[in-house]
Formats: sequence, structure tokens, C-alpha cells
Amino acid sequence: MELKPFDKKVWLATPTMHSEELAFMEEAYKTNWMSTVGENINEVERLSAEYVGTKYAVGLSAGTAALHLAMKLAGIKKGDKVFCSDVTFAATVNPIVYEGGIPVFIDTEYDTWNMDPVALKKAFEIYPEVKVCVVANLYGTPAKLDEIREICDRHGAVLIEDAAESLGATYKGRETGTFGDYNVISFNGNKIITGSSGGMLLTDDLGAANKARKWSTQSRENAPWYQHEEIGYNYRMSNVIAGVVRGQFKYLDEHIALKKKIYMRYKEGLEDLPVKMNPYDEKTMEPNFWLSCMIIDEDAFGKQVRSDDKALYIKEAGKSTPTEILETLAKYNAEGRPIWKPMHAQPIFRMNPFITKDGNGRASTNAYIEGGIKDVGMDIFERGLCLPSDIKMTEEEQNKVIEIVKSCF
Ligand SMILES: *Cc1c(COP(=O)(O)O)cnc(C)c1O
Repeated sequence: MELKPFDKKVWLATPTMHSEELAFMEEAYKTNWMSTVGENINEVERLSAEYVGTKYAVGLSAGTAALHLAMKLAGIKKGDKVFCSDVTFAATVNPIVYEGGIPVFIDTEYDTWNMDPVALKKAFEIYPEVKVCVVANLYGTPAKLDEIREICDRHGAVLIEDAAESLGATYKGRETGTFGDYNVISFNGNKIITGSSGGMLLTDDLGAANKARKWSTQSRENAPWYQHEEIGYNYRMSNVIAGVVRGQFKYLDEHIALKKKIYMRYKEGLEDLPVKMNPYDEKTMEPNFWLSCMIIDEDAFGKQVRSDDKALYIKEAGKSTPTEILETLAKYNAEGRPIWKPMHAQPIFRMNPFITKDGNGRASTNAYIEGGIKDVGMDIFERGLCLPSDIKMTEEEQNKVIEIVKSCF
């Protein structure tokens, strides 16, 4: 098959609108609730709590704002160490630092590409004083949330679940976003449903929900004037943005079904290549399949080096590298993305502790740390990549993406 570039760019993940969004935005306009108060916010809070299955939901300006308030609710103080997923978007981690906490990165497992419960156990042996743990569900695949919850409970630690990428995914029949004491979802533009931006804090704790709502609106006290006893933030969700999310909500299940189709088509189409899709345990989890990713088998992984801002690879027959595949996709006008670069290998966090399942570890720039211990997160970053996963991509377009990937081996 002769391959020509796509006329219309094939994207990683873009918003998919259905027109109800516009009606709810217009309602905000016509009723003049062009503010951080209004019916759309009330409805989106109700829908989020109902769908995910928590008692309370607080609408906020972003998932990052929700994570920040979760860190405050967890009581992080200056100098406190906080356990955290290592392979994730920086927004999982930064709010720890806003509160003066020190992120301690927990290595990843191959089973789910999420926090390794075995490494988490080790981390509690090394730092028994830690009282907060933040776990992310990468690309819409749940972490082993019951094991992680159990380990945290045993150590009296608060669990924060970053379900920004996994809205609608379930683990052992239960929605992600319910396993933490405080949970976060995001309506950022490329998430499974979107408000263009926006986020939500989810909890069963009424006191916590009330505190978050108060902090998010500049911490006004109940007084006739602007009275303040605490530091506040301008983190409340806009009623216009909430209109977009409100219109999207009933399409969440449809979006998940389309994402799953994309994942399954890749799985089938790439079957004959020495690659695997991002894994999940069919018996215990149903991901939302937000992004379809692949990882190249070790023996088919070509030579590739990455510095802080450049990558080079050597072309070898039968082998490939994420760099080659991403460059080739771009050449054909399709957008892929590297796996989240592990936080422990980021210049800003290079001095932070990093714990592997074998005990201690140290930031590495390749997949092996001193003594031959494998750094799983770095290995997945080196051999893996995200494939175009836009739900508006046609079957034909996806077949071509599959051909482009094949042409790299
Ligand atoms: C998108 C995302 C966030 C942040 O959400 P925003 O709404 O963009 O602030 C946090 N964590 C993860 C893992 C994400 O993918």
C-alpha cells in the first residue's frame, strides 16, 4: 500500500462536541449567570457525584486546582514527604510542592503502567512517617487501587486518587475516583469529556467538600462583609464552562465505547508486530481507553538516545524506536506522543527520592539503575508511545496509522 500524508491532521485526542454544550452555554448567557455561580455548576456537580459514586463533588477551574485543594485537605505541611506516582503528567505532582511537600516517587509496574504496590510497600518501610499518597490512573487504566488503598490504610496514610485521565474506568466493578479520601477528575480539552477546562474534587466527606468550596472562593467567612480567617484561592468553576461539561456528560459512555474500539483495532492491527498495547487486567478492570499506547518488545527495540531536549536513533531492519515512529507519524500528518517522562528523571525533581520494588533507587537516565535494578518507568518511557486516539478518527484513517507504524519495522 502506498502511503500519502493525511490531508486532514489525525490528532492524539481533541474535544468532541455534540451541540447540547452550546445550548447550556447559551442558557448561562441568556439568564446572565456569566459567573462562578449558576445552574450549570450545580448540575455538573450533581452529575459527577452521581456518575462516579461519591457523596459530594466540588466544581473547580481545573483538575490541578482540585489536586491542590486535595493536598491541603490531606494536611501536607512544609517538609513533609509525600508518596506519588512517577510516570504521570506533572500536574499530579506540582500541587504537592505548592504546599511545601517533598514528592517521593514510587516506581511503576508493568501490569498496569501505574504505581507499583510492591514499591509502595518498600517506600513505607523506608519512610514510615509518610502520611499522604497520590496515585494516578495512567491513560485511563486503573492502578491496583485496592492494594494501594490497603497499604495506605495499614500506615494510616491519606490516599489522593488522580482520576483525571480515567473518568468512567472501573476497578473491581467500582468507578475510579472513589478509592481515595479525596479524588480528582479533569475536564481539560483533551480528556475523555471536556469543558475546554475545568475539574472536580470528589469525596464522601461533607466537611472536606465544604472546606474545598470555601477555599476555592477566596475563603470568605460567613459575615456581612469580606471577612477572612484563612488563605483563599480563585479556583471555582465558571458557569459557562460548566455548561460545556453538562452537555458532554451524557456522551461519556459513548466516548468510552469509541475509545475502546480504537484500542481494540490497534491491538488487532499491530498483532503481528513485536509490540504490545498498554496493558490492563481484564478480570479486574475496565479502562476508559482514553489513550491507546504501545510498547516495543525488548528484542525489537532499536538504538535510541534521548537528552533533555533531543532524540536520536539508528535505523535497523526489523527494529524500531518511539522516536522513529513518532517522527514517521508526524511526517504523515498524524500526532502521537511520548509516554509521560518519569518525574524522577525530570530536571526539577532529580534530587527527589525514587523508590523501586527492590528497595531504594536513584534517578536514572536509562532503564537500569546502579546494581542492575530495573527502573520500570524509564523502561516504559524509552520503549513506549501514545498512538493517535481521537474518537473522530475514521476506521480508514486508523488503518493507515497502523500501516505507518508497520512501515517502521
Ligand atoms: C490532565 C491531568 C491533570 C490536570 O488536569 P487539568 O484539568 O489540566 O488541570 C492531572 N493529572 C493528570 C494525570 C492529568 O492527565
